[in-house]
Amino acid sequence: MTRLAQTPGLTEVQSDILGAVRTFVDKEIIPNAQELEHSDTYPQEIVDRMREMGLFGLMIPEEYGGLGESLLTYALCVEELARGWMSVSGVINTHFIVAYMIRQHGTEAQKQHYLPRMATGDIRGAFSMSEPELGSDVAAIRTRATRDGDGYVINGQKMWLTNGGSSTLVAALVKTDEGADRAHKNLTTFLIEKPAGFGEVVPGITIPGKIDKMGYKGIDTTELIFDGYRASADDILGGTPGLGFGHMMDGVEVGRVNVSARACGIAIRAFELAARYAQQRKTFGKPIVDHQAISFKLAEMATKVEAAHLMMVNAARLKDSGERNDVAAGMAKYLASEYCAEVTQESFRIHGGYGYSKEYEIERLMREAPFLLIGEGTSEIQKTIISKGVLRSYRI
Ligand SMILES: Cc1cc2nc3c(=O)[nH]c(=O)nc-3n(C[C@H](O)[C@H](O)[C@H](O)COP(=O)(O)OP(=O)(O)OC[C@H]3O[C@@H](n4cnc5c(N)ncnc54)[C@H](O)[C@@H]3O)c2cc1C
Repeated sequence: MTRLAQTPGLTEVQSDILGAVRTFVDKEIIPNAQELEHSDTYPQEIVDRMREMGLFGLMIPEEYGGLGESLLTYALCVEELARGWMSVSGVINTHFIVAYMIRQHGTEAQKQHYLPRMATGDIRGAFSMSEPELGSDVAAIRTRATRDGDGYVINGQKMWLTNGGSSTLVAALVKTDEGADRAHKNLTTFLIEKPAGFGEVVPGITIPGKIDKMGYKGIDTTELIFDGYRASADDILGGTPGLGFGHMMDGVEVGRVNVSARACGIAIRAFELAARYAQQRKTFGKPIVDHQAISFKLAEMATKVEAAHLMMVNAARLKDSGERNDVAAGMAKYLASEYCAEVTQESFRIHGGYGYSKEYEIERLMREAPFLLIGEGTSEIQKTIISKGVLRSYRI
């Protein structure tokens, strides 16, 4: 065995893309991540390079100007990017989910209109389900689109939009009138174009400002307030109202593979840092790696990194093969995010007091890891999905 988290069976194209991303991460992201994160600065130069590399269009089909790559390729790139800095992976994650939803569920006109410009990164996507009073309980959405002539008027408040300010296209899940009170029938995804920025960006849409977060800095996470925003019926994803719940759940499912990939990336970095530090730091006359307590920690961390990576790759490959992957994605997300938190914590301990200093990268990873326990569905929600899914095959 060589390094951790290798993936057998990749094509030459996949290996080339991954090699290019890894080099980019080592040379351009890792050396700048600490400073940009601590000053909460948007990584514009890094994002521009990602656009040049085609990363915004990784999974967009070639006929719409993208690279037409698989979920696996995408996930492995995200793992690398998060190894460098989680915020950078966050820049493309919501974009990727929105592009995926348009690809899977959009009308041909919507695909033609959005995907080519999403592939270049000229249009940047955010996706919006959560509201101030709900995250896990998606069916409880209150933001409402009311029919008004040929179109709709939207009112309500959305919460926690990653890339809310920097995006120019928001896929927003709101309540419509179809299907009375049944969540699967009365939620609709609207594709809403807006300029990037803060304040009242178009009549009826306000992005109040960046939410000040514990970590995951540099990129903007925002609220979005609809106040009499007028949407056209053509803005409905797929053209038919009432199908939004299914659209979003499909998007979140690939999103979960992508969050597990992020968790893998952070855990890999935490391991790399710990392995290096443990060989440099001496106590009681020898490198701390020579104390069995520390080498055993590294063994446990390495095993967790490897297990999480395998689960993530399995979930991505399952989706790529066309199989249902809700349980596999839920398991991968659950395991990878929990292991990420544990591996990061162990790396922090190995760093002793220096781990608490802002000069050391592990301090940032310690603030990034907890988000993965929450985003794209908490561990409790993953367990609900896993148990329901698994029990389908064990019914008596
Ligand atoms: C930095 C950041 C970025 C985000 N980006 C986005 C984004 O781009 N788009 C978006 O739509 N959302 C986004 N979110 C929101 C995120 O998806 C939600 O925070 C998450 O789904 C949890 O919802 P909640 O915060 O409302 O917690 P709640 O749903 O209120 O849950 C609170 C606690 O109760 C538990 N719980 C809830 N229901 C159950 C149950 N049935 N059984 C057992 N336990 C339960 C949860 O596991 C959790 O521990 C983001 C959040 C953060 C912090």
